[in-house]
Amino acid sequence: MTDPTITDLRRELEKARDALTDAAIHLARHAEMNASLHCATNVMYSPLHAKVTAAVRGIDHALDRTEPENLPTLDGRSSDGVWAALAADLDRCHHGRHIGDDCGSCGGVSQGNPLMVVGDAIGYDRHGHYIVLPDRDHKHDPAAWRTTPRT
Ligand SMILES: [Zn+2]
Repeated sequence: MTDPTITDLRRELEKARDALTDAAIHLARHAEMNASLHCATNVMYSPLHAKVTAAVRGIDHALDRTEPENLPTLDGRSSDGVWAALAADLDRCHHGRHIGDDCGSCGGVSQGNPLMVVGDAIGYDRHGHYIVLPDRDHKHDPAAWRTTPRT
């Protein structure tokens, strides 16, 4: 599943690319007509033609980067990447709510993951430094995962 905003933006970019491609063809034919009219041996394309073709290339690049299969997602929820989305889920209670969110099954507010408490060490990196479950406000900050655990 792709973010609907990206889908909308891609559709608008495709429309702009089609219009600019037609404009580039028009400008090229105009330059070629002028060259023919003046019996010139070289066609002098206008700076506007160069700008339009550069814009088309930029749009193509943006469309390539936002191809749905090129976007890292975990069921379409995160633009941070699959692993960031997975890590961000570690604070959910077993009812699926993030810690601090409303959860009727937890008694009003989600108590979070009972298997991992915020601030606890949950592992080590390859240098033996702690990996710590950060609080919800910092769970998208990789540095927050590499701090000293609470005592
Ligand atoms: Zn819950």
